Amino acid sequence: MSLYFIFTVDGDWNEYFSTKLSKKERKPDRKGLLGLIKREIAIARSIGGKILHFVHTSPVTRQYYLQPEFIRLWKKIEASGGSIGVHCHEEGLFSRGRLNDSGMLEQSVRSLTEPLRKEGLTLISYRGGYLTFCKKVIPILERNELFLDFSCDPGRYLHHKRRLIADWRGAPKNYYRMCYQDHRAEGKSNVIEIPLGKIRQRALYIDITSLPDIWKVTRRLAKKDKSSKGNIIVSLLTHTYEFSSAWKRVKIKAALLVCRLYGSFINDKEALEIIAKEKGKT
Ligand SMILES: [Zn+2]
Repeated sequence: MSLYFIFTVDGDWNEYFSTKLSKKERKPDRKGLLGLIKREIAIARSIGGKILHFVHTSPVTRQYYLQPEFIRLWKKIEASGGSIGVHCHEEGLFSRGRLNDSGMLEQSVRSLTEPLRKEGLTLISYRGGYLTFCKKVIPILERNELFLDFSCDPGRYLHHKRRLIADWRGAPKNYYRMCYQDHRAEGKSNVIEIPLGKIRQRALYIDITSLPDIWKVTRRLAKKDKSSKGNIIVSLLTHTYEFSSAWKRVKIKAALLVCRLYGSFINDKEALEIIAKEKGKT
């Protein structure tokens, strides 16, 4: 069938991850970030504008990306063929891989979906900060009409501050409908998982994977696609802060070019349509 890629960018900035800084010092810098997001949009032109930018929200800054200058950029992304998604950094909620307070996560989700939808933007995608997820998140996404999740990095088993916050061991390497009882298994929920493209330990995680390895993963995915009965849909991942370095921008452009050689880029809405069509056939 066909091999599809979704180019995803998590809208984080460097200082957010410097937890030793004060809360004020960890806040983002508007001028710098506006420029970086404009670079994302410019680079995404090579793939028909099909970028999925995940808007950050966290206790460090709740309303920051709702300022008019940013809203204008979100609208520009949508108008040029891309989308905006929800990226909640609520690490404090997780303990031993379970969400302690799903009410708080839902509030966090709504702090973005409600105002952004009022602006006329369409949001259907979610990714947890640090790729966190657990089964309790599934009904929250359903209630808030976020039908695609991008938190899966198959095999990832992450501890943060001595807490287990992401467990994707055994998760499928192609898209799947999530199970209410186990987010790593296929099931009957209304949330479709689109994992990070991965072959063995190598992932389409541009920030930490070398270009030759990105090439290898893409080539293997294309090979897998030839023998597969259905479509393959996976994501590529990078972050807004990566766009500050000229070398990293070259690397991102090259990664997109490699993927274009073997498959095609789609946005999240097109992914939903393709998945619905494929389901109709079976
Ligand atoms: Zn993040």
